[in-house]
Amino acid sequence: MNFSMITLNEYSCSLLVTWLIMPLLGLLSGWVMTLITCRLPALVEQEETGVRCIKTPFILSGSQCCLCHHPLTWSDCLPLFSYLRLGGKCRYCHERISWRYPVQEAGCLLFAVFCGLFQGDNLSLALALYTFGWFAFALSEIDSRTFLLPDVLTLPLLWLGLIFNATTNMTDLVDAIWGAVLGYTLLWSLFWAMFFATKKKGMGYGDFKLLAATGAWFGWQCLPAVLFVASTSGLLYALAGYLLFRKKSAVLPFGPFLALGGTVYFIDFLTH
Ligand SMILES: [Zn+2]
Repeated sequence: MNFSMITLNEYSCSLLVTWLIMPLLGLLSGWVMTLITCRLPALVEQEETGVRCIKTPFILSGSQCCLCHHPLTWSDCLPLFSYLRLGGKCRYCHERISWRYPVQEAGCLLFAVFCGLFQGDNLSLALALYTFGWFAFALSEIDSRTFLLPDVLTLPLLWLGLIFNATTNMTDLVDAIWGAVLGYTLLWSLFWAMFFATKKKGMGYGDFKLLAATGAWFGWQCLPAVLFVASTSGLLYALAGYLLFRKKSAVLPFGPFLALGGTVYFIDFLTH
């Protein structure tokens, strides 16, 4: 009797996590992601160039249409719902809204439900997987458009990994610290070796920090596998671009492939 009650309780908790908590988190964090990926690159550029293009603080500034600059109400800014309700067009100038916003929120929603289905009986692991995936998704989106991996995302991801490992037993904390140190040092050394050999910069400092953050989550042991997935998927992507569209990309952002490597490693890690 007790056994079946416990099983039933665990089952209801799992349903609650999968179909209520995670989808709500997905929708809310999807909205935050559209805000961040839209505004952060402009803020980083502003910091680097000193040219002030955003006048109000990041979170407090109101949203406006990118095309007609008409101020938007809060109900216009719910990416997925507003897009569907307005038929993909701006309410004021009737121009098409970028598909990126609803796709980002739908991606967050689907990934949140996946995390719930995958780890519904363990809320902290479901949240950890979602958090890592969310940062990986946001960083990939920004890097693929702007070749930037902002510190305000890579550094909190690193700290969150260390905090998560200090409070749970997913990865040994010492391994996690060495993961962060070696992740950074490995790509930093590769960068300078390539620079001295070819006089070309093969990647950016954001890539070092993203691999350091990945090491902080899964320990130094993850680094060969993550680098293998990242470089193989990057090569396949470049090859597919060339074969299908005869596109020769001189520069390819490495961040999305590192992020993919980390996420694949996390999912594989949880299945064992
Ligand atoms: Zn407009």
